[in-house]
Amino acid sequence: MPNMEIEVAREIGLCFGVRRAITLLTEAASKYGRVEILGPVAHNQRLVQQLDNAGVKMVANLEDVRGEVIAIPTHGVGPDVLTEMEARKLNIIDVTCPIVKRAQSAASKLARAGFTIIIFGEKQHSEVKGLLGWAGGKGMAALSLNQIASQANVIASEAKQPPPARLGIISQTTQNKTYFTNFVNQVITTFIPKTSEIRIINTLCQAIGTRLEAAIKLAQKSQLIIVIGGRNSANTKRLAEACSAIVETHPVETAEEIQKSWLTGKHRIGITAGASTPDEAIQEVIAKLNSLT
Ligand code: SF4
Repeated sequence: MPNMEIEVAREIGLCFGVRRAITLLTEAASKYGRVEILGPVAHNQRLVQQLDNAGVKMVANLEDVRGEVIAIPTHGVGPDVLTEMEARKLNIIDVTCPIVKRAQSAASKLARAGFTIIIFGEKQHSEVKGLLGWAGGKGMAALSLNQIASQANVIASEAKQPPPARLGIISQTTQNKTYFTNFVNQVITTFIPKTSEIRIINTLCQAIGTRLEAAIKLAQKSQLIIVIGGRNSANTKRLAEACSAIVETHPVETAEEIQKSWLTGKHRIGITAGASTPDEAIQEVIAKLNSLT
């Protein structure tokens, strides 16, 4: 396409937590020859494959571990999993992101202080499962007030039991700041008449916020946005959702998925990528777009 400009978002791709994990895992694999990791290091198939090639083999469950070195992925695990690893005397390489560790610590401290904990997040996500573990049976994951009510009638307004006296709120690290703020406001409005204390700990990750803001700015001046990242990457999905509310947006995992027809009549193309998208995937998309101009 003549006169086509390709602009890359100011903040894009791998966050420091995933880069740190790649470094630690690669070093461990070269030291021990083979490392097993409990689940994907982050939600990106290409990254998983690159690490597999370097000797970091993914296992779905602890029962599948055959070697003596086990890695904990960036999303972290609950204390029960950690205890089991220790009981099996496995050599543990913990690459849990420090931001996730901070959220785990917040859940644990709130639980020990007697709070019932609401985690703003998707209960099936591995990070949230871990956070629920650190909340020690006093936590629930929800993305709306309805979900809170359906999960825990102890704090629903129509409950027979009294609501908990103290309520703590944290977030899955990769959630959207605006949605979290709205959720917190709703919880306060609903529960403040029934509780003696509501404590909010902001466990959101800045890297997600800056990528989202940069993607929105780029979408506002582009005619088309390509979002690169894993199909099951939560933060990649959120980038695509935000951009598609502004302009035509196509999420892709690889450059091969780009179709020439998307570019027809477009002169300003923007590119963004999730926090687990490897640099190579971004470079390949740029090269593919350039080859189509
Ligand atoms: S997105 Fe944030 S919380 Fe998640 S691994 Fe990256 S730096 Fe850590």
